[in-house]
Amino acid sequence: MDVKEITKHLTNRSEEDIKLVEEAFTFAEKAHAGMTRYSGEPYMNHLAAVGKILAEMGMGPRTISAGLLHDTIEDTEVTPEDIKNKFGEEILFLVDGVTKLSSVRYYGSDRHNESLRKLFVATSQDIRVLIIKLADRLHNMQTLQYVPAEKQLRIARETLEIYVAVAHRLGMGKIRKELEDLSFAYVYPEEYKRVKQLLESKTGKSNELLEKERKILQKRLFDAKLLDFNTSYRVKGLFSLYHKLKRKDWDIDGVYDLLAMRVVVNTVEDCYRALGIIHELWRPLPGRMKDYIAFPKPNGYKSIHTTVTTPNGVIMEIQIRTRKMHHEAEFGVASHITYKDHTVSGNTSSHSAKFMSLIPSLFRPFTWKNGAEDHFQTRTTPHQDKIPRWISQIGNMYTNKEKSSTDDFIEDIKKDFFSNRIFVFTPKGDVVDLPVGATPVDFAYAIHSEIGDHTAGAKVNKKLVQLETELRNGDIVEIETKKTAKPTKKWLNFVKTSMARKHIKTAIGEGD
Ligand code: MN
Repeated sequence: MDVKEITKHLTNRSEEDIKLVEEAFTFAEKAHAGMTRYSGEPYMNHLAAVGKILAEMGMGPRTISAGLLHDTIEDTEVTPEDIKNKFGEEILFLVDGVTKLSSVRYYGSDRHNESLRKLFVATSQDIRVLIIKLADRLHNMQTLQYVPAEKQLRIARETLEIYVAVAHRLGMGKIRKELEDLSFAYVYPEEYKRVKQLLESKTGKSNELLEKERKILQKRLFDAKLLDFNTSYRVKGLFSLYHKLKRKDWDIDGVYDLLAMRVVVNTVEDCYRALGIIHELWRPLPGRMKDYIAFPKPNGYKSIHTTVTTPNGVIMEIQIRTRKMHHEAEFGVASHITYKDHTVSGNTSSHSAKFMSLIPSLFRPFTWKNGAEDHFQTRTTPHQDKIPRWISQIGNMYTNKEKSSTDDFIEDIKKDFFSNRIFVFTPKGDVVDLPVGATPVDFAYAIHSEIGDHTAGAKVNKKLVQLETELRNGDIVEIETKKTAKPTKKWLNFVKTSMARKHIKTAIGEGD
């Protein structure tokens, strides 16, 4: 892939922006020279693909560069110093964050999924790290067929349990959908086949039908002088269909959004106008209209949904939204960090053709078929958002909205995790969560009381440290034990967990 495939997506790009991405591209190419992937392709193809996914999402040059460099520290001779000297602290921070995340792994037990998801977000420290990691995973899933069979299932389950859930909670609908459909076939092969057959039997010629209806709708909107709009359509994704079928005893006739058409307009007012025009054109099904503009979903999703039947016998859901809502629904939190300092261009009087260019779809199998997609001018400014700020920003998105008590992931994180807990790793990558201020001794007791009672020394990130050292998020902690080692009274001065305190007291004879 040529680097231009990436840089062409940079909007409002400056010479320096392009140069930065080009340099990261060349640097990665050199660093990974001679390395190949399971498919036999050069390793660079993976990095270029990740860079391209990020560029298509509207991410800025630094995030894209970090995406290109994301495997250098872990897989090549390149050191953090090298990255810092050549690309600066910010890009190093992002690459480093992605590297740390690779130790967050799904070990095959559903019991820990919720804490793994939180850990995943907590470890990222910066939302851009999470976005790079999601792009990385998307390309890995797109090429999963080349990975040895015994690894496929673990990776696909991890994707479904962790990455899909995180993408969903962050409102990143586009990447979520592709990740879940790609994982589905590996994790539930039987169900996948069944759903696929059922869907095909039901919607065999639906693309032609939808294309026909789309033309009718376009004409009607145009006649009604609603001139600036985009329409697209899709067949429902297999994994979300699977979920719906399970709820409906596998009765596919009870699923009304197998086919959907999307109408994207400029203003909220135009959304309601379009709704009126559509209900005049096609008969709406009673009780199926949902106004998520007036009442957004907990993850911030906004649109008007209605289900209609057409004279050609098509039953489909229609989703109406503004361009800004569309961008947010596709990219979620990612759209917020790019929107923050830059507004949508062309949302007033300019002709749509002027600012609409095609976003090549990230999705192949079940993509929306677009006349034209919007490409918003977006720009990432070099935020150094650490945990409190970006989390509070995401948190703020939720505060004034109706929220369901079970779905308030971000609020949870904000309250419980960042203020009170840290996550550290064993050398094998197992996760241990501890209160803020916890020390290697707390860690040792959290692993096992025998280890705690015989702690002789500790290494954090491979360096020898004092036992009273405060651990930090993402640290890798190794405890050295000796049969002769024993707790001392001094330990009570610095341990933070009641479990450690209790065991130490017992060991020094102060216990009850
Ligand atoms: Mn990678």
